[in-house]
Amino acid sequence: MRLSHYPINTLKEIPAEAEIASHQLMLRAGLIRRLASGQYSWLPIGLRVLRKVEQILREEMNRAGALELLMPVTQPAELWQESRRWQEYGPELLRFKDRHERDFVLGPTHEEVITDIARRELKSYRQLPVNFYQIQTKFRDEVRPRFGVMRAREFIMKDAYSFHLDEASLQQGYRAMYDAYTRIFTRTGLTFRAVRADSGAIGGDVSQEFHVLADSGEDAIVFSDGDDYAANLEAAATVPPPGSRPAPGATLARVATPGARTIAGLSSFLKVTPERCIKTLIVNGTDSGSVVALVVRGDHELNAAKAGKLPGVASPLTLAAAPAVLAATGTEPGFVGPVGLKCRVYVDYAALALADFVCGANEKDMHLTGVNWERDTGAVTAADLRNAVDGDPSPTGRGRLRLARGIEVGHIFQLGRKYSESMKAMVLDESGREVTLLMGCYGIGVTRVVAAAIEQNHDERGIIWPAPIAPFQVVLVPVNPQQSERVRETSDRLYDQLTAAGIEVLYDDRDARPGVKFADAELLGIPHRIVVGERGLKSGQLEYRGRRDSASTDLPADQALEFIRRAVAHSAAAG
Ligand code: ATP
Ligand code: MG
Repeated sequence: MRLSHYPINTLKEIPAEAEIASHQLMLRAGLIRRLASGQYSWLPIGLRVLRKVEQILREEMNRAGALELLMPVTQPAELWQESRRWQEYGPELLRFKDRHERDFVLGPTHEEVITDIARRELKSYRQLPVNFYQIQTKFRDEVRPRFGVMRAREFIMKDAYSFHLDEASLQQGYRAMYDAYTRIFTRTGLTFRAVRADSGAIGGDVSQEFHVLADSGEDAIVFSDGDDYAANLEAAATVPPPGSRPAPGATLARVATPGARTIAGLSSFLKVTPERCIKTLIVNGTDSGSVVALVVRGDHELNAAKAGKLPGVASPLTLAAAPAVLAATGTEPGFVGPVGLKCRVYVDYAALALADFVCGANEKDMHLTGVNWERDTGAVTAADLRNAVDGDPSPTGRGRLRLARGIEVGHIFQLGRKYSESMKAMVLDESGREVTLLMGCYGIGVTRVVAAAIEQNHDERGIIWPAPIAPFQVVLVPVNPQQSERVRETSDRLYDQLTAAGIEVLYDDRDARPGVKFADAELLGIPHRIVVGERGLKSGQLEYRGRRDSASTDLPADQALEFIRRAVAHSAAAG
C-alpha cells in the first residue's frame, strides 16, 4: 500500500481520553476512531490486523472440525423469554421494539439463537457431535465502557457452540476447543495462560478463561509457582494453613472501641495487627428473612462467588439490610462478631486458625479480645471464603500462589443442559429415546485480542506487532525521493518485487521528512523496515532495521529481496 494514497493521520499527542497504552497507540496510529461511548470504527490499517486475527481463528476452528455460520445481530425477545434471560440478563442487554411494537434485543451472545437452530435441525444422535461458530458483532451495554476496544459496547466475538449426546462427548468437544484456543493464542504471538474460572450461577460446570498477561489487565489471576495450577481470583481455592491451631492463651475481655467500625480503625485503636482481628459479615440466607454470618481474617477479603455457593447462603451474595443485622446480632455493622450469634456461622480456614483474636462484641462501640473458637463461640463451620493472596500455599499442595494481572481474551464453558432444557432441544438416541442435548460454548473477543496484543507488545515509540498479526510485514522508506530519481526508482522497483513475492509492504512514498516517516513506521509497529537513501545507494547499500533492533544495518541493494523474503518467513515461523 502506498502511504501517499492513504488519508488517515497519525497523532503525535497522546489523546486525553485514553488511559492505557493499547488505547493510546490504537488512536495515535490511526487504527480505530471513536464514534460514541464504547463504539469504534476500524480504519483500513486497523482492519488489516483484525482480519489477520480472524483468519487465524477461522483456520484453527475449521481445523478442529467446527462449522462456520452467521446469525443475526438482532434477535426476537421470545427466544430470550424462553430461556428466561429476558428477565435475568439485566441492563447490559439492549432491548428495542420494531414498528409493530414487537420486542427485540441486540445480541450480546447467541446461545438462544443457536439452540433454536439446533432444536430445528438436529433430530438424531447420528448428527452429533457438532460445533457451529461465527465471527460476528455483539452489543453489550457495559456499565463502564473503557480502554477503547478492550471493553467496548459494540465488539466482535468469535462464538462457538457445540452439541453432544452424552457427557463423554461434551468433554471431548471441550478439550478440542481448549487445544484450538491454545493454538490460536500461540499463533497470534501472545503470552497467555488458561485459568479455571468460576462458572457463576450454573454451579458445578467446568469453565476456563484464556488470559493475556499484562499489568494493565482488568482481571486478577492466580497461579502456582510449583505446578500448572491457575485460576482467576474468583475461582482460586485457598486451603487450611498447615499445623494445628494454638491453644487458647488469653481470657475473653470486653473493651470499649468508640467509633472503631473498620479493621483499620480497630487495629490502630487497640494496637493489634489486622491479621489478629476478624471481620464478620451478615448476609442474606436462602430462606426468606434468614441470615448467615461469614467470617474472614481482618487482612483478608471475602470472595462473593465462593460464599454465594455455600448451603443456606442466597446467591448472588447480598449483604443483609440493617434491620435484619440488628435482629440477628443486636447491633449494627462494624461491631458484629461470632460470639453468641444465633444464625449459622461460616468461618474461613485462615480465620479459624487464629487463637486469642479480636472481634466485634455485638454491641455498639464494643469489641472482644482474647477470643477463641469453640471455647467462646460454640460450633462453627469451616469454609473457603476468601480471595487468595500472594504467597498462599497452592491448593494442589505444590508451590505457592502468585498473583498477576490478565486480560480475558477467551472463555470456554461446559454449559450442560441450561439452554437445551429450557428451549427443549432434543434428539433421538440409538434406542429411539428422546434425549436433551448437552452443550458447550466457546468465545474469543476478536477485537479485544488486537488491543491485548498491543498491551503486551509496545515500547515508548509505538506498537511492536507480533509478525503473524502485523498489518504489513515490511515498511519501505525512501529518503527524500522527490530529490532523487535513483531513490525513487530503486524504491519503486523493490516495492513491486516484494509485492510480487507476496509480501505485504507499506510503501511510505509520501513527500515528508525522513524523521516523520521513521516515527510513523515505529508507531505503526511494522516488523521490518527498509530505508532507501541517496548516500547509501552510492555504494549500493540500503538500510535494514527490525522493529525490536537498536540500530540499522547495511543491506546490499541487490540482496534486499532475498533478505526480506527470508526475514519475513523467519518471523512468521517464530510467531
Ligand atoms: P468480561 O468479564 O471481560 O466482561 P465476559 O465474561 O462477559 O467478559 P464472555 O461472555 O465470556 O465475556 O465473552 C467472550 C469473550 O468476549 C470474552 O472472553 C472477551 O474476550 C470478549 N468480551 C466480552 N465483553 C467484551 C467487551 N465489552 N468488549 C470487548 N470484548 C469483550
Ligand atoms: Mg462481561
